[in-house]
Amino acid sequence: TSGLEVVATPIGHLGDLSPRAAEALARADAVACEDTRRTGRLMEHIGAHPPLVSLHEHNERDRIPALVSRLEAGENLALVSDAGTPLVSDPGFRLVRAAREAGIRVTPIPGPSALLAALMGAGIPSDRFCFEGFLPAKAGARRQRLDGLAREARTLVFFEAPHRIEACLADLVEILGGDRPATLARELTKRHETFLGPDLAGVAAAVTADPDQRRGEMVLVVGGAPPPDPDALDEATCRLVTRLAAELP
Ligand code: SAM
Repeated sequence: TSGLEVVATPIGHLGDLSPRAAEALARADAVACEDTRRTGRLMEHIGAHPPLVSLHEHNERDRIPALVSRLEAGENLALVSDAGTPLVSDPGFRLVRAAREAGIRVTPIPGPSALLAALMGAGIPSDRFCFEGFLPAKAGARRQRLDGLAREARTLVFFEAPHRIEACLADLVEILGGDRPATLARELTKRHETFLGPDLAGVAAAVTADPDQRRGEMVLVVGGAPPPDPDALDEATCRLVTRLAAELP
């Protein structure tokens, strides 16, 4: 079987590496990965030693032609990211697109993903959700993005970095309101796995009170905007009603 296998790897607990994922990594002629040292440790764990090729955000475009040539020559390549599911806030979609364009078979081998693990533990409606990835790092751009999401009815899922979580939560409380249901999922599948809730105000207070709650890897799940009150009138309708009322005898 030649082609490109896109392989999900653990987000913490090594027991989450599926047998199928381990087989794909062991039989690959080469494994494209973000960080060869990090993936090297995973390969050590499964006792396989295929060559590792670095493929990250900054070199993905340059690496594609050589990788596609290898695939066209009949090699079997695997693509992984540092942790979790490749292409989810991680590199890879350009390689997958190039492989598809070249008529190469692409096989996803699904598995751990911080996005889905957070939803699995949050207890917030998950039938429809928007994955927003990382919010912009700068306050102005972040607030603008949140303004655009304030009326979104679907559950929102964000990745966030520990050094920005406090500022991010403060903006969320201000723009979406502290009573929005929210769960901060930290260190999923690891020893210090923690879920904080039950709403944005509660998560913000917990994170501010305890520096430990700002450490590690984290995903924030926020409930969608409540449906608009059917009895509430929008501004234009209010103005119209006021004008009409003034005409009444
Ligand atoms: N592709 C990965 C996935 O599917 O899980 C996500 C990659 S993204 C660059 C890394 C972010 O995912 C982290 O900053 C954090 O927000 C989240 N993350 C990864 N592992 C996590 C974990 N064990 N617990 C909580 N969040 C995690």
